[in-house]
Amino acid sequence: MPASPWRGESAPCRLCGHESPNPKGLAKHVQAAHGLTAFDYYGRFPGEFLARLRDTADLVENRPELGSCWEVRGRPVRRGYKTTRVAGAPCALAHRLAVWADTGAWPEDLVLHRCDVRACANPAHLRVGSHAENMRERAQRERACRGADVHTAQLDADRVRAIRELYRDGGCTYATLAAEFGVSRSAIDHVVNRRTFAWVPDDSARAGGEDFIPW
Ligand SMILES: [Zn+2]
Ligand SMILES: [Zn+2]
Repeated sequence: MPASPWRGESAPCRLCGHESPNPKGLAKHVQAAHGLTAFDYYGRFPGEFLARLRDTADLVENRPELGSCWEVRGRPVRRGYKTTRVAGAPCALAHRLAVWADTGAWPEDLVLHRCDVRACANPAHLRVGSHAENMRERAQRERACRGADVHTAQLDADRVRAIRELYRDGGCTYATLAAEFGVSRSAIDHVVNRRTFAWVPDDSARAGGEDFIPW
C-alpha cells in the first residue's frame, strides 16, 4: 500500500478496541458494530476528538497573544476552510467541528476566527457570531494593525488587496509594485505570499458570504 498522509492517523475504537485499517474505517466500524454515526461516536469523546484535531494539525504562532493556531493540514475545501484529518471524524469543516466538540452544540451561525486563519481549528480562537459582527471585527483589527510594521508602514488593507490582485492578474513584477507603492521588493514579496497582512482577506472572499456551510 502506498504511503499516504492518512497513515498513522488511524485510531482504535474507544468502545471495543477494534483497529481499523485506515482512518475512514473507524467511522464505518462504529456504524456497523455499534450503530453510531461519527457524530454520535465522537459526541461521547469530545475531548479525544479535540486532542486528535490538535495532533493532526500544524501548530503555528500566527497571533502569539492568542496561543498557537491549529492549522489543519491538506487542501482547503473552500476559501481556505478545511475538513479534518481525524480518523472517523464526521464529514464537516474542521473549525465547525471544533466548536461542536468544545461546546457540545452544533454552531447555528457563523464561526468566527479571532486569529483570521481559516484553516485554524483551535477552539480558543473560535466563537459563534453573525456575519455583520465578523465584518465589524475584521475592520477593527485592520485599523489596529495599520502602521504596525515599519517596513510596511505605507501599506494598509486596501493597498494590500490591490497589490495581491495586481500581482495575481499578471503583468506586475515585485519591482514595479515596489516602486508603485513606495515599499521594498521584500515587502511586496511578503504581502503577496501572505507572510505579512495574512489577516487581510481576498476581495473574492469578502464579496461573497462568509463561512456558512451547514456541514
Ligand atoms: Zn468498536
Ligand atoms: Zn488560530
